[in-house]
Amino acid sequence: MTRAKPSDTNEPSKPRPRPAKSPVEGLVGGELALVATPIGNLGDLTQRAADYLRAADCIACEDSRITVRLLQHLGLKKPLLAYHDHNADEMRPRLIERLQRGERMALVSDAGTPLISDPGFKLVREAARLGIRVTAMPGPSAPIMALILSGLPSDRFLFLGFLNAKSAARRSELEEIAGLRATLILFETAPRLLVALEDLLAVLGDRPAAVARELTKMFEEVRRGTLSELVRHYRESGPPKGEIVLVIGPPLAAPENDGADLDAALRQALVGMRVKEAAEAVAAALNLPKRQVYQRALELKSGELKAGTADD
Ligand code: SAM
Repeated sequence: MTRAKPSDTNEPSKPRPRPAKSPVEGLVGGELALVATPIGNLGDLTQRAADYLRAADCIACEDSRITVRLLQHLGLKKPLLAYHDHNADEMRPRLIERLQRGERMALVSDAGTPLISDPGFKLVREAARLGIRVTAMPGPSAPIMALILSGLPSDRFLFLGFLNAKSAARRSELEEIAGLRATLILFETAPRLLVALEDLLAVLGDRPAAVARELTKMFEEVRRGTLSELVRHYRESGPPKGEIVLVIGPPLAAPENDGADLDAALRQALVGMRVKEAAEAVAAALNLPKRQVYQRALELKSGELKAGTADD
């Protein structure tokens, strides 16, 4: 699996002659379908995705060796057209030509939803510009699965893809969005997880977070805690194995606080954290005595239990 390079996302495409229109008003040629595939468990391939792959004239894919395995699972043989970061500019006109000839084409990535940190956006843009029908067979996507399992607020979120691999550049990327009141979702590799967590802690403060690993696979794990707890854990345990999505909660309330700020910060931290962890994180963030914050956290928690309110 590869990350979409800037060259696959930023360059303007060359203008192309507009082909004759098909009988369907406004649409020409065939159809491009963005087909989501499993991120680890073949059982997650949807019926519509399987049906589309069966009916497709050809399949554009990142790595044909990976897609062949999926097709073997379905008992299918199809023409595969490699479309990845290193050949996208050269291949795009050829794919468009096939679509203009009326072919039904599926675009898949190695795993998950195409275009999400994977190639395809320029192909969609070009097809749409030329009036070719574009549709999608939605399905698995690691960032969304990680978000919904994280126990962090899911009403406002920002997906950051992969941050820069170098610590200094990564920290300045994080500084740009540090004040944003949104949950952050990002990809990280297992060997870089600890340094990434250290950078997140240094720039964003000790926010609640989750490390989602090996989603849908045998060793699926979601580790929730404050960033400092996660740093401590991975310092002791060493790097984990497998594929990882990091989810980080929005900023806690501002340091100048009254009771309302403290309560807001605690309510937010109590989503996905135990009372003690939440109290420690909020006390550190607001620079308040731990005992006082812990006491208030207990009161809020027991009030919540009495009222029988749900987190969401
Ligand atoms: N398009 C894909 C999607 O929708 O899930 C994401 C592609 S991106 C190139 C690959 C990254 O997604 C991996 O490096 C990892 O961070 C994350 N990822 C993919 N599968 C995963 C899984 N099963 N568990 C956790 N993270 C996963």
